[in-house]
Amino acid sequence: RNLCKYFPIHKGLLRRVVGHVRAVDDVSFHIARGETLSLVGESGCGKTTTSRCILRALKPTSGEIRFHTEEGNAVNVAALPKSELRPLRRQMQMIFQDPFSSLNPRMTIFDIISEPLLVNGVRSAAQRRERVEELLEMVHLRPEYMNRYPHAFSGGQRQRIGIARALALNPALIVADEPVSALDVSVQAQILNLLLELQEELGLSYLFVAHDLSVVKHVSDRVAVMYVGKIVEVAGTEALFERPKHPYTEALLSAVPKPDPRLRAQRVILQGEVADPANPPSGCYFHPRCPYAVERCKVESPRLEEVEPGHWVSCHRSQELTLTGIRA
Ligand code: SF4
Repeated sequence: RNLCKYFPIHKGLLRRVVGHVRAVDDVSFHIARGETLSLVGESGCGKTTTSRCILRALKPTSGEIRFHTEEGNAVNVAALPKSELRPLRRQMQMIFQDPFSSLNPRMTIFDIISEPLLVNGVRSAAQRRERVEELLEMVHLRPEYMNRYPHAFSGGQRQRIGIARALALNPALIVADEPVSALDVSVQAQILNLLLELQEELGLSYLFVAHDLSVVKHVSDRVAVMYVGKIVEVAGTEALFERPKHPYTEALLSAVPKPDPRLRAQRVILQGEVADPANPPSGCYFHPRCPYAVERCKVESPRLEEVEPGHWVSCHRSQELTLTGIRA
């Protein structure tokens, strides 16, 4: 709720604070148990910073991150001291973008996957071995692979190992930061299907951070679109893809490659650069690039409002515009 993460800008020898980069600026959303919410937007829009705050890899500047634990308590992760984070971190795990750099090349697959177990007090080597075997089977890798090193595996296999490590402590929430963007297209679908299969089996919630909307469409229940640190639209996947209500979402959707040349002609080319989060424009941050901007947009910042059940938009003109989406 109202999550903000501002990074100070320092200047001079005394490192005087001369401003702030508003990487995440008053962001609110929820993820239900067993649900996948995707955060999308251009690079630098704040989606990775948001996910790192949720995992408390970064301390938020302000706002709340309420996590409903297995015990039924709602804990504000943003306010917890570091010493109390460990039990919660077990329940929130991350899958990284690059399966080539996220696995330590000097550790065996057994050491990599069992490390979180060891750190969390599973002292018995036999128990750890049994759990690693189970996890490898869950990600469809052979248990005998556990004695090998990461270099022996392809990108897709390494990402499966990363997923097995993330599952080791039975998390409730997995944050997947561009988990397939470093993989061959042919392997991407296999990993996405594995994530969906594990979700169904284990009731996992996913926060899926991505820039590729075709991937997002395949895996998400709902999608949140970010622009310059703010959420500009949140909706169910079908509603967002077929009936977008924010001009920025329309532009993102129009950039998805389409086989039909008539649809290709509908591409919305945005003018100008993404706004600077250290010095954002007045009013709606999107107004310098928005093809539908009016005078009001330059002076008044729109609020995120629910325009249809479950469909939230931050645009003064959302009710009058008919925007182009992608039909399934
Ligand atoms: Fe465009 Fe105005 Fe809507 Fe912003 S508020 S997205 S500038 S129409």
